[in-house]
Amino acid sequence: MQRYHNAIIALTISLVAISPSVVCADRLTVVASVFPLFDFAREVAGPAADVRLLLPPGVDPHSWEPRPSDIVDLSQADIFVYTSERMEPWAGKIARAVQGRGVALVQAMDNPGFTSTVGSGQDHGEDPHFWLDLSLSARTVEMIGSLLASQDPENRDSYIANARAHARRLEQLDQDFMIGLKECGSRRLVTGGHAAFGHLARRYGIEQLSVYGLSPDAEPTPRHLAGIVNVVKDNKIHTIFSEELLNPRMAQVLSQETGAKVMVLNPGANLSAAQWREGLTFLEIMGRNLKTLREGLECD
Ligand SMILES: [Zn+2]
Repeated sequence: MQRYHNAIIALTISLVAISPSVVCADRLTVVASVFPLFDFAREVAGPAADVRLLLPPGVDPHSWEPRPSDIVDLSQADIFVYTSERMEPWAGKIARAVQGRGVALVQAMDNPGFTSTVGSGQDHGEDPHFWLDLSLSARTVEMIGSLLASQDPENRDSYIANARAHARRLEQLDQDFMIGLKECGSRRLVTGGHAAFGHLARRYGIEQLSVYGLSPDAEPTPRHLAGIVNVVKDNKIHTIFSEELLNPRMAQVLSQETGAKVMVLNPGANLSAAQWREGLTFLEIMGRNLKTLREGLECD
């Protein structure tokens, strides 16, 4: 299967190489793997560059596989920015397929100053959902600003200014999270989804307890579920969180077993088709998450 995919990629690329270019060469083209990186790049770019999201609306980024047409689009871009091969196992494959075709490949979690922070937190170095720590999001926006500036020096000043302004907004929201989650009835974020909230938990002093691991693919054991039920009962936890774009079945099971209510968080990696049409932004997603967390964790 692996070899078959590689063959499709190689074939697609060679077709692209011999067909006449259909892309307008004037504007910088940036393709982002997941929604937060798309949103950051869009804010930095303003009207100066063309920014696209690779993931189709509604799909789970952990299990999605790119189509040959995605590889074609990507091979015509100037920059491909992705999180890490842990978040997007397919991204490394794409990266290798378009290497040498003038596409700058950027792993967001690989930029200097970032890896030191993320890697230092015991088990959180493995967690690719970095954007849920808003200080890391702000730093990533600055990184994207420098990246676009280096690839398109003509628009340098506007990229750098946009990046600074947007990083400030994220820093402000980071402070809102700090303050908003300071005094809470519970500091346990129990989720019927996957372990997407490790960075949020670390940054804002909360403990995460999740049904699934870092990717929502392996089924939990009955023993693991029973353990979570006990923690919820023993600590009189009133809220189980489920996540958008994931079946709420596990959160409902926990809710039925414990009497806790279910509230929905958005890990932010992708949008539903309706949210995409609505034009939901990353700041709005995180603002809603803060409101939901404050209510669910009973914060003052
Ligand atoms: Zn995830």
